[in-house]
Amino acid sequence: MSIKDLAYWQQRAETISIEGRAFINGQYIEAVNKQTFDSVSPIDNRKLTNVAYCEQADADIAVKAARQSFESGVWSKAAPAKRKAVLLAFADLIEQHKEELALLETLDMGKPIADSLAVDLAGTLRCIRWSAEAIDKIYDEVAPTPDNELGMVTHEPCGVVAAIVPWNFPLQMASWKLGPALAAGNSVILKPSEKSPLTAIKLAALAKEAGIPDGVLNVLPGYGHIIGKALALHMDIDTLVFTGSTAIAKQLMIYAGESNMKRVWSEAGGKSPNIVFADAPNLDEAAQAAAGAFCFNQGEVCTAGTRLLVEASIKDEFIAKVVNAVKTWVPGNPLDPKTNVGAIVDQTQYKRILNYISIGKEQGAKLSIGGEAVEPIENGYYISPTVFSDVNNNMDIAQEEIFGSVLSVITFNDEEEAVAIANDTPYGLAAGIWTSNFSRAHKMAKAIRAGSVWVNQWDGGDMTAPFGGFKQSGNGRDKSHHAFSKYTEIKATWMKLN
Ligand code: NAD
Repeated sequence: MSIKDLAYWQQRAETISIEGRAFINGQYIEAVNKQTFDSVSPIDNRKLTNVAYCEQADADIAVKAARQSFESGVWSKAAPAKRKAVLLAFADLIEQHKEELALLETLDMGKPIADSLAVDLAGTLRCIRWSAEAIDKIYDEVAPTPDNELGMVTHEPCGVVAAIVPWNFPLQMASWKLGPALAAGNSVILKPSEKSPLTAIKLAALAKEAGIPDGVLNVLPGYGHIIGKALALHMDIDTLVFTGSTAIAKQLMIYAGESNMKRVWSEAGGKSPNIVFADAPNLDEAAQAAAGAFCFNQGEVCTAGTRLLVEASIKDEFIAKVVNAVKTWVPGNPLDPKTNVGAIVDQTQYKRILNYISIGKEQGAKLSIGGEAVEPIENGYYISPTVFSDVNNNMDIAQEEIFGSVLSVITFNDEEEAVAIANDTPYGLAAGIWTSNFSRAHKMAKAIRAGSVWVNQWDGGDMTAPFGGFKQSGNGRDKSHHAFSKYTEIKATWMKLN
């Protein structure tokens, strides 16, 4: 049996041992209240394990441990080369455990095992390694000063950082925070989503084994409105970094204002336009990319290309190509390495997507393909990718983030109209532009208010490029050296030289 076989993963799933406790000050412990909640797999609704139900008391203990570790300097003042070596060892351990972590991810939130390995684990490794390598290559500044003075601009770690992350790429979103936060010398409390806590919990043991000192990385699983809120309101957390919905991002800013004005950085929702002009270099390629843009990861992607803007002159031809491409995205057993569409994360999300499909029909959009609940595995949550054409940008399915594979096809007649439609949402995360016209590509890229713009491709980029949103898609940036600005305070030290 090889990792390319369903039986291999099924057998590993039967025998995997799963940790569900919190990790505080270097050890796994139960929540203070001894309570747990069930972790259930959306693949087949099977209970996986009990997970610690953390609350305020656990937050207090973890924050104290994080603060003490930070003040002790054991990590915050360690030589950059030392932190780099430990983080590289951490990455090596993640790599050694990549099959186990990928399996946990798939069991916990339903994504195809092939994606867990090739996307989530690969992205996590790249992020931790890149952040580790950056530590001893970023310099501070000396200000232009007269001869008898010296002005230094230095970056210091913020202190205690809380990271609250979502369920769609649990490990990868955690790594986008942990990589630069730890590299910069902070102590961190990671709060994974209640829907997908298992890989974050496992990660903690690997961090300890790699040599990350006790108290520097703590993991508190639990519900957002309980433990997430306790962290966001905590008086001794310096910085709160978040990836999740726009509604919760706004709430976190309120909590910060109500408590200690901790810095809040959010990566939030999206409703990204994918704009196809009649002069796209290759319409078949564009159609395949348009399908992948909203089908990948069950559409549970912040940058999902859920609004397909098509130039009116190629509307019918292009929709037919997209519908054909969508036929290759088929829900199946997430443990089968051949599957490219897995299970929807839970029943709430499943019902939400089906509800939006009903709204699309009610509001007069034309269903071109999909729109149905399917059941490749009994008791699991699966929906066939759905394309609505004849969509008006004011419809709910075009304005609201569904977080499922539901595509709205909207037509436009010229560049100006395409820009107006593209920018007409509260979000500004990403956009795609397909054209052979170089000037048009540049003009469109400038006019679209989004943090990432892709030309003649979808979802380009890597650790070297910043990622984040305009408007209500967030503030600050993950990835690249720009991410470090969230995890450091800037100090100006001005000295008189006598
Ligand atoms: P969510 O906002 O419901 O939850 C995100 C996290 O916040 C979870 O850990 C949750 O427990 C916690 N939380 C919930 N209520 C809270 C509260 N009152 N106080 C503190 N914490 C709270 O989002 P989700 O459903 O987990 O994830 C989907 C969302 O994430 C989508 O909107 C998606 O666009 C967004 N997302 C954005 C990016 C990005 O980089 N921009 C990446 C991935 C996902």
